[in-house]
Amino acid sequence: MLRRKAFVNTIANFIHALQAVKPIHDKCLRRSFSTLFGKIENMKRDLSISLFDANLYGLLVPLPIIALFATLYIARWGLVTFTFDLLNVFASPSLFVLAFIVGIVLHELIHGVTWMIAGRKSWRTIKMGIMWWALTPYAHSLEPLAINAYRVGVVMPAILLGILPSLFAVVIGSGWWLAFGIVFTLAAGGDMIVLWLVRNVERGKLVEDHPSRCGCYVIE
Ligand SMILES: [Zn+2]
Repeated sequence: MLRRKAFVNTIANFIHALQAVKPIHDKCLRRSFSTLFGKIENMKRDLSISLFDANLYGLLVPLPIIALFATLYIARWGLVTFTFDLLNVFASPSLFVLAFIVGIVLHELIHGVTWMIAGRKSWRTIKMGIMWWALTPYAHSLEPLAINAYRVGVVMPAILLGILPSLFAVVIGSGWWLAFGIVFTLAAGGDMIVLWLVRNVERGKLVEDHPSRCGCYVIE
């Protein structure tokens, strides 16, 4: 039994190494190794959702946080100023579009750098790339991470690009930063869902960032 487990483990590592090289091919790999995957996945808890679901529900989950920022802004500067400041962002949209593109790349970079620092890994274990079919950049940890390091890496873009700019906007009265904070709080909706999915993972557990979906596998 032990030998069989070791054998399945070796194959699992091999497949994982392959996945790390070409995460997009996860589906093809699954088909080819379907029986084996069945056995391997019994040893791993899959806490992930599809990119589509993450994007869809990810737009709903952050709404209460955004409502809170809007309320704070209105409480401090008034409804008229709030409306005027937000509409003003559309007066010169090109700078905002540029900031949006930079922000999307930064979002993924923050995931990667935080996983590296919190997980005490080398930068070589973090894979950054672009899913061309979805025109979406991604960050992916090739090595398992302690659950808490994983959580910190998942939540950091929401804090640095969503929450802090929004609070900054409320303090100085800037519609531009409020819009930026709101957009990147929304962009972190999928990450908030992942945090919810891993809420019950016990301290000290290792997780593998899922190669093609939002979320991770818990190594049992
Ligand atoms: Zn993210």
